[in-house]
Amino acid sequence: MIVAVASGKGGTGKTTVATNLAIANSATIYDCDVEEPNANIFIKAELKKLEDVFLMNPQFDLNKCTFCKECAEFCRYNAIAILPSDILFFKELCSGCGGCKIVCKYDAIEEGKRKIGEIYHGKNGIEIYQGLLNIGEARATPVISQLKKRIGNELSILDAPPGNGCPTIEVLNDSDFVILVTEPTPFGLHDLKIAIEIVKKLGIDFGVVINRDGIGDEGIEKFCSREGIEILMKIPYSKEIATLYSKSIPFVDKMSEWRKKFVELMEIIK
Ligand code: SF4
Ligand code: SF4
Repeated sequence: MIVAVASGKGGTGKTTVATNLAIANSATIYDCDVEEPNANIFIKAELKKLEDVFLMNPQFDLNKCTFCKECAEFCRYNAIAILPSDILFFKELCSGCGGCKIVCKYDAIEEGKRKIGEIYHGKNGIEIYQGLLNIGEARATPVISQLKKRIGNELSILDAPPGNGCPTIEVLNDSDFVILVTEPTPFGLHDLKIAIEIVKKLGIDFGVVINRDGIGDEGIEKFCSREGIEILMKIPYSKEIATLYSKSIPFVDKMSEWRKKFVELMEIIK
């Protein structure tokens, strides 16, 4: 079973929920927040690199090229600019789709590859897989796709990137259930609504976890009640939890009642 933990906005406590859920249920965690993976701050495993992640990049043969511009016109990412006798290629913009090679009638494009990230693995009580996007790279999705190939038949918790963009959708695709973590503020509600629209369009079952319950207003609860959306758990704005967080200690390790609650949460999801 694959459970993705996502949030419309950053800083809601998504990784806190993902790591505590994984630890309490002896699941494997996949840190798909490849631009800034931080789940291992809580798991504290010794990570070892498993593989590099490459992106297909076109290589142009100027001897065969007629400068017809078809590849540039095809590329919706504007990664190619054709000059009268040269080609400019902006590698950071390229998605690696390979379309330019297909449309070139003169066989002037070869498939090259460029390293954009790495996949890591470690174990400390539970297993953790982590993707890491190289600094300066713009395309997180291929690293996430590669990381997801490691998912087996075990209970898998996917820590999604914050926001509602392509990398998040790549994580949510193929998930059996999505936990949307939010905070009880107007900003939290605004971004939660967008995240819910996406999850509904993907046709995946989901529920909401409210983190730092008590800091804001009741907007999220009223919205969920109105829309018939289940609030799976409320994590209070608590000094004890915040103190453990500041020491990178998963609170299920120190607060047995919360370990039980996260086990129960997984039972509800199943
Ligand atoms: S489509 Fe092929 S021939 Fe035309 S500009 Fe691009 S690389 Fe050159
Ligand atoms: S591989 Fe795709 S994104 Fe990259 S340059 Fe070619 S058409 Fe553009």
